[in-house]
Amino acid sequence: MAVFVATDVESAVQRLDDRPDSVVLAGGTDLMVEVNDGRLRPSPDADVVAVNRVAELRSWRHDSAAATVTIGAAVTYSEMLDEPLATLAPALAEAARTVGSPQIRNAGTLGGNLGTCSPAGDGLPVLAALDASVEIASVAGRRSVAVLDLMKGPKRTTLEPGDLIVSFTLPVVDGWQGYAKVGVRNAMVIAIASTCLVLDRQRQRVGLALGSVGPTVLRVPAAETKFAAALDWRTMTAERDAVQAFGDGAAQTAAPIDDHRSSAEYRRHAIGVLTRRLAARGLDTAGRAA
Ligand SMILES: Cc1cc2nc3c(=O)[nH]c(=O)nc-3n(C[C@H](O)[C@H](O)[C@H](O)COP(=O)(O)OP(=O)(O)OC[C@H]3O[C@@H](n4cnc5c(N)ncnc54)[C@H](O)[C@@H]3O)c2cc1C
Repeated sequence: MAVFVATDVESAVQRLDDRPDSVVLAGGTDLMVEVNDGRLRPSPDADVVAVNRVAELRSWRHDSAAATVTIGAAVTYSEMLDEPLATLAPALAEAARTVGSPQIRNAGTLGGNLGTCSPAGDGLPVLAALDASVEIASVAGRRSVAVLDLMKGPKRTTLEPGDLIVSFTLPVVDGWQGYAKVGVRNAMVIAIASTCLVLDRQRQRVGLALGSVGPTVLRVPAAETKFAAALDWRTMTAERDAVQAFGDGAAQTAAPIDDHRSSAEYRRHAIGVLTRRLAARGLDTAGRAA
């Protein structure tokens, strides 16, 4: 394989445009598995465009006036665990902590997680629950897209050939956010079901995203609106029934399948449990701080 090591966004997108069958390489923890298994063979006329030396993709910034954090696509999971980023995006840090092993966390990136777009990708429910936007570059220029609009199905995005994911912008939430997943064991595990919950106190908004229970990450608008209305945002408390109904609503929205990892029935059950647990944890933590 010919590898082009990009040093900036412009040279990366130019190379992708010049050699149209080229593929982007970030940490390689998904891409090299495809190559090693023979499912991907970059053609001799194409390049592997390595982006993990592009400073803009390797860095993050906090805009305190806008209350947002913008995270480069090639920032690794290990770096998401470092302070102060972990405090600005706590659900992302929580999700990053569950990804693979230290070796995978040292190489794997959020851009690669979205590039692969597995319904089980641990970063994706967090981006979805926070209504994150994605900046994409190509030779035509840059554009910003809601992450939910990019995820089309299992391993399918609306990215066009020549597109490079540059960064993700997420709100810094006044309230609480958390991530939880169930797998067949406690570490080095692909999620059987996962949830990210955001309780945005300032906007009085609930965001809940479900992973591994649909063709792609799912939001649950009806259950979110109902739970937001049932919440006392001043004291950050809710009746037990409201938490129960929230979990039931999430489980009903889930559209799981049976596969080698789990039955659909267990996945649906797990979504209800994870949603109720996150809601209880969020209200407990945010309620004590209120
Ligand atoms: C042992 C093992 C355990 C794992 N455990 C987990 C886990 O627990 N949770 C989880 O979510 N994932 C897991 N994974 C999958 C993988 O680590 C993640 O999906 C990771 O986020 C991929 O990032 P990467 O930088 O390595 O992507 P790469 O492998 O470099 O790329 C993946 C795909 O995204 C594209 N891409 C990468 N960057 C960009 C960009 N900037 N713009 C456009 N396209 C881009 C590539 O062309 C490729 O199609 C595991 C993988 C392994 C091998």
